[in-house]
Amino acid sequence: MYLIRVEGDKMSKDLDTLLREKRIFKPSSDVVKSSNIHKWMEKHEINDYDELLQKALDNPDWFWDELAGELEWFKQYKKTKKWNPPYAEWFLDGKFNIVYNALDKHAKGPEKDKLAYIWEGESGEVRELTYLDLYREVNRFANVLKKLGVRKGDTVSIYLPMILELPIAMLACAKIGAVHSVVFSGFWAKAFQERINDAKSKVAITVDGFRRRGKLIELKENVDNILDKTPTIEKLIVVRHEGLNINMQEGKDIWWHEAITEMETECKTEEMDSEDPLFILYTSGTTGKPKGVVHVHGGYAVGIYTTLKFVFDLKEDDVWWCAADIGWVTGHSYIVYGPLLLGVTSILYEGTPDYPDPGRLWKMIENYGVTVFYTAPTTIRMFMKFGEKWPQKYNLDSLRLLGTVGEPINPEAWIWYHQHIGGGRCPVMDTWWQTETGMHIITPLPISELKPGSAVKPFPTVEADVLDDAGKSITGGGGHLVIKSTWPSMFRTLYKDPERYVESYWSRFPNIYLSGDVARRDDEGYFWIQGREDDVLNVAGHRISTAEVESAIVSHKSVAEAAVVGKPHDIKGEEICAFVILKEGSGSTEDFEDIIKYHVRKEIGPIASPAHVKIVKDLPKTRSGKIMRRVIKAKVKGEPVGDTSTLANPEAVEYL
Ligand code: ATP
Ligand code: MG
Repeated sequence: MYLIRVEGDKMSKDLDTLLREKRIFKPSSDVVKSSNIHKWMEKHEINDYDELLQKALDNPDWFWDELAGELEWFKQYKKTKKWNPPYAEWFLDGKFNIVYNALDKHAKGPEKDKLAYIWEGESGEVRELTYLDLYREVNRFANVLKKLGVRKGDTVSIYLPMILELPIAMLACAKIGAVHSVVFSGFWAKAFQERINDAKSKVAITVDGFRRRGKLIELKENVDNILDKTPTIEKLIVVRHEGLNINMQEGKDIWWHEAITEMETECKTEEMDSEDPLFILYTSGTTGKPKGVVHVHGGYAVGIYTTLKFVFDLKEDDVWWCAADIGWVTGHSYIVYGPLLLGVTSILYEGTPDYPDPGRLWKMIENYGVTVFYTAPTTIRMFMKFGEKWPQKYNLDSLRLLGTVGEPINPEAWIWYHQHIGGGRCPVMDTWWQTETGMHIITPLPISELKPGSAVKPFPTVEADVLDDAGKSITGGGGHLVIKSTWPSMFRTLYKDPERYVESYWSRFPNIYLSGDVARRDDEGYFWIQGREDDVLNVAGHRISTAEVESAIVSHKSVAEAAVVGKPHDIKGEEICAFVILKEGSGSTEDFEDIIKYHVRKEIGPIASPAHVKIVKDLPKTRSGKIMRRVIKAKVKGEPVGDTSTLANPEAVEYL
């Protein structure tokens, strides 16, 4: 990976286009030549990236048929897709089960003794499962579910931390045709209650307790407090993880380890229709009440199999670590289903990334020889704050590719990641996607030239665009990020809310998918995600993106993280308020307000310079690690902060 170009300063006078990031990195020819996508292109006589994108746009069904053909179907589908916007169906009349492809196939193949998961607990304990072990555990648990009366189409609600029983439970549901609804273990039990009631689950799964930063969280006890408000629940299965002495309710509560003892290690995999539901998953709740997104067996499997194969380039010998939580879509797609579909070895880590010290992740990469690593900008910025001395203590030479997801990555964080974690040789895949999309949508491939802070271009076949308010496609300035085509792992509806499905996503521009994010496309067709529609600033008539002002602030050597919001102003419309976290050891915070104002003025221009700067210890974030600007904005305006149930660190609100 090397720097090929820093373009001359051709900063646009258009204030929508603020950021002056002009560095371009090119992957080495080794990276390109050994990549899955390059080999696939050779097979299809495609010469370069642009030709690939064009050919896929012109022939989307050809592209997806080729990839769907790499998976096994009980019955071959008859039609690739039916696209009747806003409703899509994929691989019609096919019979399929994602678990057959993720597990059964491998348990019967030569890779049966290969490790599927290496699990490490926060305390350092390790548990490994081969594909055959995992297959057996899934079958035993699937038999438990069947015995408890769970049938095809029933929804099982799951509230588990990052332990192996979580993927086992999900796979067991899918195997017998049940739908899983996983609730992130960091949420209050109230969220579990609401989702159980939403889905009318008869069976739910939880754990006695688990540790975060060494602190014990007694999940079962919390669940006990809500169970009298979940009338449909007949059985609660409890995993014994911490060995806590908990109250087990006679007739209702069942220990996982007891339930599986007498179960067979074989269980029939249900032949599902391609379009049968696989899971319900609620969005992170960054902008409001979470939405219950529904994904299906066939198209979802093909979408995530393909993206993981081509974007993260996973091959037989890779050790893959997607350091997200399975409670979010990133974990569903790229910890559970994707890597198993590809038959690779994955790391599953229970704990906090900086526990017991900021070397934890890097130490694990060294220990397990991780080759491809995927995390979020918030984590990268946190490690920037601790300094490069931590990664420097470990040998990270096994890494060959890196990735990020969740928020726009500031160019300085990208460069830090590339340099200090990737040793300057690993391309960084900045993948833009959503719970709703199921798979990567705007993303580089290992063969793409990269611009720090840009998610590069749409994945092959995806027709993404940037529209102005009138619906006209634009280049250069910020606009609505939309998708005009369908893709196999597109969500099919919002659970029990079909009207909201149409209204929220398909009505602003009829039959075009509205992502809710703002992006700008540069004159080379690269996409730059600028933030969420609700967060865009409006200063003296200029639309200014939060991501770009924040990136300018973070480019100051003493800054670790920043959030900006608009405060209503009589004349200007809005003025910019910046909340800034400094790196460790940055010294006195006294002069920083002026330094930062000046720095932004110099980087972008006076219009984007914050009117107010405040140095803070922490910023309010969602439990998936995203800055919640909505809450900061409410504080700035002196309004009530609203629903903070998805906030990870409510105390941060006070620092503001
Ligand atoms: P809610 O929809 O309930 O507000 P959420 O949007 O945070 O929650 P997710 O589906 O987990 O829930 O997150 C998707 C969003 O994350 C995207 O719409 C975008 O705002 C942000 N995002 C994800 N990846 C990237 C990326 N690579 N660059 C910029 N933003 C990203
Ligand atoms: Mg969203």
